[in-house]
Amino acid sequence: MRMIFIGPPGAGKGTQAARLVARYQIPHISTGDMFRAAVKAGTPMGQEADRYMKAGQLVPDEVVIGLVRERLGMDDVGVGFMLDGFPRTVPQAEALEVALEADGITLDAVVVLEVDDSLIVNRITGRRSDPETGEIYHLEFKPPPADIAHRVVQRKDDTEEACRKRLASYHAQTAPIIPFYASRGLVKAVDGVGTPDEVTERIAAALQG
Ligand code: AMP
Repeated sequence: MRMIFIGPPGAGKGTQAARLVARYQIPHISTGDMFRAAVKAGTPMGQEADRYMKAGQLVPDEVVIGLVRERLGMDDVGVGFMLDGFPRTVPQAEALEVALEADGITLDAVVVLEVDDSLIVNRITGRRSDPETGEIYHLEFKPPPADIAHRVVQRKDDTEEACRKRLASYHAQTAPIIPFYASRGLVKAVDGVGTPDEVTERIAAALQG
């Protein structure tokens, strides 16, 4: 399974991505996670990316394209992969197409998780994660258990201001890649509103169809 997973910030993509890579046994290539790891490690690329991420802006295309090309050159992607958070712009989608074609690789599906903007700000600003397990919680919908509540953290870009910027950037820059992939017959649109289990089953059904 070689798939791209697209959706607005706060659509539940992180939760669903973790389930799907376990189900299909494929590496999870999340550019957001790769940038956060680079920021934590304090690499020069991480320091550059951090400035954009904190502001809720996209990291420049050439930085992210280089990062993904390097990752797709690794051996473990032979079994397939899930790209999560990439491509985010049409130039990124075009660069990916060129890179995959050069390696004789075709994509199986582009899953688009759909959630209305009106639901997203609340989902994002209440989001917290446990740095020890990576588990994602929500202060209202899935409160962290009392024994770990003291250690949950909020992503720097999960503030309301950064969230609104990320949503605007999704509509302006990322949504245009949907027609790009639709014209190649790859898009599977899935309703992201429902329980996590319901959404997982919808995605699995879309991938089979
Ligand atoms: P995410 O965890 O996917 O929401 O990504 C967090 C942040 O990392 C984004 O708001 C961007 O600043 C940056 N980022 C991640 N993926 C990309 C990408 N494909 N292109 C540009 N910036 C990205």
